[in-house]
Amino acid sequence: MREDYLHQIWLTKRLPMHQLTLVDGRKLHVFQTGWHNHESGPDFFNGSIEIDGIRWNGNIEIHIKSSDWYAHKHHIDRAYDTVVLHVVYQFDKPVYIGNEEIPTLELKTFLDQTHWFSYESLIKSSTWIPCENQLQEIDSLYFIKEIESALVKRLQRKSTLLSARFEALNHDFNQLQYEVLAQAFGNKVNAIPFGELAQRMPLKVLWREGNTAIHTLLLGAAGFLDSTSDRQEYQQMLLDWKFWTIKYSFQSMERSSWKFKGLRPSGFPPVRIAQLAGFLTIFQHDFKLVEQPIAFWRSFFESTDFSENKLTQSFQNLILINAVVPLLFWYGDYRSDSTFKQKALDLLDSLESEKNQLISNWKKRGIESKSAADSQGLLELKNEICNQKKCLSCQIGNKILGKQ
Ligand code: SF4
Repeated sequence: MREDYLHQIWLTKRLPMHQLTLVDGRKLHVFQTGWHNHESGPDFFNGSIEIDGIRWNGNIEIHIKSSDWYAHKHHIDRAYDTVVLHVVYQFDKPVYIGNEEIPTLELKTFLDQTHWFSYESLIKSSTWIPCENQLQEIDSLYFIKEIESALVKRLQRKSTLLSARFEALNHDFNQLQYEVLAQAFGNKVNAIPFGELAQRMPLKVLWREGNTAIHTLLLGAAGFLDSTSDRQEYQQMLLDWKFWTIKYSFQSMERSSWKFKGLRPSGFPPVRIAQLAGFLTIFQHDFKLVEQPIAFWRSFFESTDFSENKLTQSFQNLILINAVVPLLFWYGDYRSDSTFKQKALDLLDSLESEKNQLISNWKKRGIESKSAADSQGLLELKNEICNQKKCLSCQIGNKILGKQ
């Protein structure tokens, strides 16, 4: 038995909910299973149950054996004092909070064993995705729905991260947009150092020093302007940077923070920094990425001169996918206005599918990606659902297991 299986069974109520009884024989009615907690503390928060006609609201903990409560040292952790129900596969020991025995539901007798064996054999598969051998039997409609659902989960996950960052920035919306944009220019390989760069060199300073200073300030903060810089055009920049380091006490990043390996010269960090500087220069103080209509973006990239550092079509799309779309979706959450979320989805629908190994692997298995909405959904499905073997929270998994 696996604890994550028990979590999913509880969450999806795949149990004879009207026949549940506790190990002491009392009747149990579940109003709410609670909110699944993936951090420390009880497994489900704010559940709502009734035992012999008395309603209890509180947290719910799940284990394979009831004695795991003591093995995991929950008896000395106050975070578990509010647990109102212990759900276990096997009851091998009574558990107490203080002097009170915790009501315990033993699942062994209620679980559908055939379902468990089918699930176990599915997730033990060593194929690229666990359900690979059953894919042919699944109607494509299930895939379309699951890809859409995975896409929304992906955008929601990013939105939660952006909300946390927005709070940390004391609601500085411009800085948030700038940081997200910078990370998008870093793409997968240099997203982290680009994020660090945007934090070290805040947008307010770039605006204060003006457009002609932006490129130098970013290059200097990134660590690409020092006395060892041999490029001729860097010499004046180096002098300017030295002045600003005195004025603001800036510290440059280590050059070793940046990755060059595996990148083409057109994707080297100094080139991307020049492109980011070009982008910021154009938007100047009117930095409202979320308020531009979809049609604006295509003409923006076509008409904008990034000098010798022109952005390729696929890189333009990546900027939209990794910066504009997550910002739009988050903004919809922040403003409680679904039109922004719809705009994010429409923008993804209008963009070509990404081309990478993961999308090719899906294609080999008969799953085509027709737009960036599909490729983003497939990315999420593979990395966050299939790889984590969350087949029970996937419509395809439930279809496969339901058949058996
Ligand atoms: S999560 Fe869904 S698509 Fe992925 S392997 Fe499991 S059943 Fe298949």
